[in-house]
Amino acid sequence: MKSKFTPAIIVHGGGGRIRAEELPQRLDGCKDAALAGWGIIQQGGSALDAAEAAVIMLEDNPLFNAGTGSTLNSLGQVEMDAAVMEGETLRAGAVAAVQGIKNPIKLARRVMEDGRHLFYAAEGALLFARAIGFAQCDPEALIVETERARWQEKHGTVGCVALDLEGKIAVATSTGGIFNKLPGRVGDSPLIGCGTYANDCGGVSCTGQGEAIIRIVMAKTALDLLKERAEPQAAAHQAIALLAQKTGGAAGLIIIDRQGKVGHARNTERMPVSFILSDGQVHLDS
Ligand code: ASP
Repeated sequence: MKSKFTPAIIVHGGGGRIRAEELPQRLDGCKDAALAGWGIIQQGGSALDAAEAAVIMLEDNPLFNAGTGSTLNSLGQVEMDAAVMEGETLRAGAVAAVQGIKNPIKLARRVMEDGRHLFYAAEGALLFARAIGFAQCDPEALIVETERARWQEKHGTVGCVALDLEGKIAVATSTGGIFNKLPGRVGDSPLIGCGTYANDCGGVSCTGQGEAIIRIVMAKTALDLLKERAEPQAAAHQAIALLAQKTGGAAGLIIIDRQGKVGHARNTERMPVSFILSDGQVHLDS
């Protein structure tokens, strides 16, 4: 399809601790997710559908801390946060501290489409899910043995930013949160402007220490920097430098601008990333 926009997609698999031997599989997971979203964009689908599809793949992949395979809280339970946002319209939907939802990103999208409210938490999110006929699952079904056994390590969130052939940008972020969090703790991922943000300049998805990311409203801060500096890679680095300087925290982010340029930066040890630019080549980084 001929388009005046240069599409792009970038996916991250989280900034949490990953053992070196786990990295290739995580990169493969990110690559598959980026390709799934890219396929949708290539067929003329929306950035929103692409970002959601990429994140669903990562939620269903037990290696990542989102959906199935989420990290456990201090009670040994899975409680997940997720958000989606569309840059052109500033429409967004988010859920926090939800249990028994196989794909929280799908529920976040339904919140956005429903439009009555933007953000539901805990039991209220489940009441909303029931009211719209959204399937729930056994909360235990999302716990994988490695997580139960490990229950002492954290590993990151997943996220995707996509730019489609119509020049629309969308972001999706989903997480099990941080390891051993207290019940009811909500991180940056579902907070619009903190872990997830899109506007008509670009889109950002973050990972890392939510408590630090929230304090500098990192996703929106990165987009403000993008507006000033016009280079996604520079904006990504500057946002992470600001986070380190102001909070001493560790995090990573991915970013796309309206021209289809991508950037990613982190001060965590690793952050598996996969991105695809207009030439269709898949790039991997960590
Ligand atoms: N940012 C997520 C949170 O604080 C965790 C992560 O990215 O690993 O909930």
